[in-house]
Amino acid sequence: MKSLSNLATERVRKLVPYQSARRIGGKGRIFLNANESPYSSSFDIDTSLYNRYPDCQPPELMKRFAAYAGVKTENCLVSRGSDEAIELLIRTFCEEGRDKVLICPPTYGMYRVSADANGIETLEVPPLQDFTPDADAIVKAVEAEPVKIVFICTPNNPTGNTVPGDVLERILKGTDGKAIVVADEAYIDFCPERTVIALQKKYRNLVVTRTLSKAFGLAGIRCGFTIADSEIIQLLLKIIEPYPVSFPVAQIAEQALSAEGISMVRDRGATINRTKQEVIGKLKGLKCVSEVFEACGNFVLVRFKNGNEVFNKMAEKGIILRNWGDKPRISDCVRLTIGTDEEMKEVIEELGKL
Ligand SMILES: *Cc1c(COP(=O)(O)O)cnc(C)c1O
Repeated sequence: MKSLSNLATERVRKLVPYQSARRIGGKGRIFLNANESPYSSSFDIDTSLYNRYPDCQPPELMKRFAAYAGVKTENCLVSRGSDEAIELLIRTFCEEGRDKVLICPPTYGMYRVSADANGIETLEVPPLQDFTPDADAIVKAVEAEPVKIVFICTPNNPTGNTVPGDVLERILKGTDGKAIVVADEAYIDFCPERTVIALQKKYRNLVVTRTLSKAFGLAGIRCGFTIADSEIIQLLLKIIEPYPVSFPVAQIAEQALSAEGISMVRDRGATINRTKQEVIGKLKGLKCVSEVFEACGNFVLVRFKNGNEVFNKMAEKGIILRNWGDKPRISDCVRLTIGTDEEMKEVIEELGKL
C-alpha cells in the first residue's frame, strides 16, 4: 500500500488538529468541558426554499444582529461560527511564510491552529500577572516583527478576565497602521457591560468577533459574526465561501435574535451568572482548591492543589471538566463550565470529597 499522506503538503502532515472537547470525547453524564449552554430551545423551520441556494449574508439576520450589537449592517459579517471568522481574518491579512499573528497565552487554542493551518507563525506575548494583556510588550512586538493580527480574547478563555478599555486603546494606538486587533467576544453576552464595541468607531483597526455558540445556546448550528470597519468587511467578503450560512441556520439565528429570543438569553445569562457566583463562593471553601480566578464568562478557572487528580477523579464520576494544567502560568488549573443548579450541586459535592 502506498502512503496517501505522502501526497499531502508538508504543512498539513505536520499539523496537530484542535483538541476540541468533542474530539477528546470521554464517557460522562455531566459535560462541563466546552463552555456550552445547559439550555436548548426549539425553533420553527420553513423548508419551502431548501431547493434554492441561500443568501451569502441573509439580510434579515444581518439586520437583527446589527441591532442587537448596536452597529450598522455594513459593519457586520456572518460566518460559520466565529472560528470561521478567525480563519477568514488570518487568510485576509497574513501572507504565508512572512506575516505573524500575536497571542497572549493561556488563551483560546484556535488562533494558533488556524494560523498553523495557513502557514502563519504565531508569536506569544505573555500577559501580566493578573492575565491582563501586556500592552507595552504587545506594541513593542508589533514594532519589531511582521505581526498583522493581535488576538485579544475578552472574556479570555480559559482565565475568565476581560481586557480593560484603556489597555485595549493603548494596543490599538500602538499598532495602528501595522496590525489589526481582534477582540474575541465569544462570552461577552454574560457581561455585556464590558464590550469594547464602542471603540470600533474610533479605532478602524479594531475587529470584534461574536458567536451564538455560548450564551445563545446554539453551538450546534455554527453561527458567528464579525464587526469591523466596512473596508475590512468588504475584504472578508472577497474570500468567504458563497453560501456560509444555510437556510436552517439563518432561520434559527433570526429567531434567536428576535426580541423574544434576546430576552430569553438575558434571563438565562442572569441565571448562569447567579449560579456562577454561588459556585465560586462554595469553591473557595473547599480544601482541594487553592485559587479561583475572576470569572466573566460562563466558566470558572480553578487552581487545585492537584489539578490532574481532580480532573481524573471527577471524570471517573462521569463529570467531564477541562484540564488546563499543562499550559503556561496555569499549572494545576481546571476549567469548569457553569451548568444547571443541579449539575453544579453535584460538582461541589464531589469536589468536597476530594
Ligand atoms: C467557543 C469559542 C469560540 C468559538 O465560537 P464558534 O462560534 O462556535 O466557532 C470562539 N472564541 C472563543 C474564545 C471561544 O471560547
